[in-house]
Amino acid sequence: MTNPIVRFAPSPTGNLHVGNVRTALINWLFAKAHNGKFILRIDDTDTERSTPAYEAAIREDLTWLGLSWQATFSQSDRFAMYDAAAADLKQRGLLYPCYETADELDRQRKLQRARGKPPIYNRAALELSANEIADLEAAGRTPHWRFKLSGNRVSWTDLVRGEQTIETASLSDPVLIRADGSYLYTLPSCVDDIDAGITHVVRGEDHVTNSAAQIELFAALNARPPQMAHTPLLVDVDGSGLSKRIGSLGVATLRERGIEAMAICSLLAKLGTSDNIDLRDTLAKLADEFDFAKIGRAPARFDGADLRALNRSIIHNLPFEAAQPRLAAIAPEAANPDFWQLVKQNCDIVEDAAKFIPVAFGDIAPVIEDEDRDFIRTAAETLPAGEIDETTWKVWTGVLKTQTGRKGRNLFMPLRKALTGLDHGPDVGALLVLIGRERVLKRLL
Ligand code: GLU
Repeated sequence: MTNPIVRFAPSPTGNLHVGNVRTALINWLFAKAHNGKFILRIDDTDTERSTPAYEAAIREDLTWLGLSWQATFSQSDRFAMYDAAAADLKQRGLLYPCYETADELDRQRKLQRARGKPPIYNRAALELSANEIADLEAAGRTPHWRFKLSGNRVSWTDLVRGEQTIETASLSDPVLIRADGSYLYTLPSCVDDIDAGITHVVRGEDHVTNSAAQIELFAALNARPPQMAHTPLLVDVDGSGLSKRIGSLGVATLRERGIEAMAICSLLAKLGTSDNIDLRDTLAKLADEFDFAKIGRAPARFDGADLRALNRSIIHNLPFEAAQPRLAAIAPEAANPDFWQLVKQNCDIVEDAAKFIPVAFGDIAPVIEDEDRDFIRTAAETLPAGEIDETTWKVWTGVLKTQTGRKGRNLFMPLRKALTGLDHGPDVGALLVLIGRERVLKRLL
C-alpha cells in the first residue's frame, strides 16, 4: 500500500466523546501502521455553533491521548476554495437554487409518506422559470443550494462493510449551502479531501449515505474518490445506541476521573474487533495489530467496567514517577515512593490512593470488635521495642500467635481493622513502617 493520508475532522461544537475518539484513533492507527499521515481538520464552517474553546479542548484531548497530527487546518480559513468549487458546480447546473422553506419541505414529505412514497426531494426547484425565481427573490426569499445527484447507482468497496451499492435515485439531492449562505460539511469536506490528497476516508457508519453523495461530488469535482471505511457505531452496554450517557462521556471527563490515556486507547482500538480487549502499553503496539479486516459489522459495545479493568492493569504497574504529580495533588505526603509501591495494587485509578493517605500518614478511626479487645490490648503490649522496620511485623505477629493461640484470619484481620480502620487494603506489615510507632500504639490503645 502507498502511504495513506487520512484525516480526523471534528466539528468544534462540543467536546470529544468516546465515539469521536474511536474514529480519531482508528485513523491514527491506520496511518501509523502504514507510515502514513494523519491530518487534523477542524470542521468549523458552522460559525454560529463552533467555538475556539471547543477547538482548543479537542486539540488538548487528542494530545493527551497521544494522537498527534502531522498537519492541521480549519475549514473556516478556506471559504474561498469552497466558493470557487460551488461557483463551478453552479455554472455546470450541478448545484441548483431551491426556495422552499423548512415548513414547505416538511409538508411535502408528509404528503409523500401519506401516499406511500419515499420522502425524497421532488426537484420542483429545477422547474422554476426565471420569472418565478425573480418573484421569489423579490419576495425576500434566499435560496439554499442542492447538489444534483446523477440518479445512478454508486458502488464502492468499503474496507469495513465490503461491497456497498446505493441508488442515488433513492436519495434527496443534498443541500450543500444553507439559505444563510453557510456550508454544510459535505462540499467543503470533498474539496479539502481532494486538496489534501486524502487516500482513505475513515468515519462512522452514520455517514454511509453521505458517502454515496460525496462519491458523486468527488467525480463532479474531477477527482477520484478516496477509499472508504465506515465503522459500526459505539453503543452503550445495553445496546441502546450512543446514549446521552456515553455521548456525554467526554475524554476530559474520563481524564478528570483518573482514567489513563492508554486504557481509553486500548479499549477503543479493540472494541468491536476480533482481538481480545487487552491492555497495550503504546499506540505503536496497537498500530502493529491494527487491521480493518478485524473490525466487525456489529455495533461495538462500550462498557465502563472494561475501561476500569484496563485502567487497573496500568495502575498496578505504574512507576512512582508517573504517579507522583497526581499523588502530590492529593496530599504532599502521599508523593512518597514507598507509599505508592504499597498501595498501587489496591487502586483502579491513582486517586484511589487517597483512601490510604490517612491510614499511612494521618488519623483514622480504628475498628476494634468487642471480642477482639483483649487481643488488641495484648498486641499493644507486645509491639517490639524501638522504631518499626520491615522485620517488626513478622516478629510481632509471631509473638502474638504464641501468646494468644490465634492464627490466620483471626490473627490478622483484627490487627488490620484496628491499624487501618479497613477490612481490606495493602500489606499491613509494610504499612506499619509508614504508620510509625507512635500512631500504631495510638490506634491500638
Ligand atoms: N465534521 C464531520 C463530522 O464530524 C466530518 C465527517 C467526515 O469525517 O467526513 O461528522
